[in-house]
Amino acid sequence: MTNTAFDCRMCGHCCEGKGGIVVSPADLQRLCAYLRMEADDVIAAYGERVNGKLKIRCGDDGYCIFFRQGKGCIVHEGKPSICKAWPFFRGNIEDAASLALAKDFCPGINPDISHADFASQGIAYLKQENLLADDARTEANALILPDRR
Ligand code: SF4
Ligand code: SF4
Repeated sequence: MTNTAFDCRMCGHCCEGKGGIVVSPADLQRLCAYLRMEADDVIAAYGERVNGKLKIRCGDDGYCIFFRQGKGCIVHEGKPSICKAWPFFRGNIEDAASLALAKDFCPGINPDISHADFASQGIAYLKQENLLADDARTEANALILPDRR
């Protein structure tokens, strides 16, 4: 039987903290369609520019503005690629030490998964879900895996 690398426990830990949720142009389109709002309105209501990239703002509680305690993500189907991709970020795929830290942070990552199995399952998932990125100006660096497309 396959040793599954990841099974989200819905703890919300990864939705807490500022500045990490990049919204690429394709993400913005998806979010607009989900929210039935124009891009300018979505950006004004929920976005911020950080070093040239569009990101989702944090609420006063320190969580992503789309996170609700007890409910989780209120834009689940329209959420950005970076959210769909976690924990299969470049750092965790390329570096065993980074994966070890991620296991401490995220209870959904199988603590027994080897780095090699995590990486191969992660790359397969990112490809299958079309989550890999290539434009460092507008997309999340964590989704740019050179030579993996
Ligand atoms: S930290 Fe891990 S287990 Fe918790 S919600 Fe995020 S992905 Fe799921
Ligand atoms: S968009 Fe949803 S999944 Fe992504 S950080 Fe915000 S609440 Fe979490």
